[in-house]
Amino acid sequence: MPKPKAPKTFFMDAPNVEEIASQLIEEHHRHLVNAKIKFLKRYGNWKAKGKTRLGSAEKVSEKHKYLTGYDFIIIINGIVFDSLRQQEKEALVDHELCHCGVTDKDEFCIWPHDLEDFIAIVRRHGLWMEELKRFADVAIEASRQLTIFDYYPEERQVAVV
Ligand SMILES: [Zn+2]
Repeated sequence: MPKPKAPKTFFMDAPNVEEIASQLIEEHHRHLVNAKIKFLKRYGNWKAKGKTRLGSAEKVSEKHKYLTGYDFIIIINGIVFDSLRQQEKEALVDHELCHCGVTDKDEFCIWPHDLEDFIAIVRRHGLWMEELKRFADVAIEASRQLTIFDYYPEERQVAVV
């Protein structure tokens, strides 16, 4: 029997993502006020290294910047986004905006995550890095807020954004 086909990937303009981003840029990402950012929603399966992706942010190459006029492209997983509550949508868009950085020479760049580690390492060795301690402090403060994972418990260890 033929395997059922995976749903086809397609992209859509995302004015509702852009609207959230404009407010966040105004409040928290002032270095992006003059950046040209294209916001897209992506539908269909989206996995990287076996994990569901929630979003991505990329700096546009010089060639494509010449062709399109954009500095960054932010792509949001449309299936996930559409089912999130407003504050979770804002968190996801804010996360991708945090990747859109600027160098000390005033050139746009991609900033990496503040923190990358394995849950198993923290379980076995505790808050062994300074970044982990800072992250834990903030996480404890924020623990009453709802997170994206209240809706996606199965994504707890698999979401990549
Ligand atoms: Zn990220």
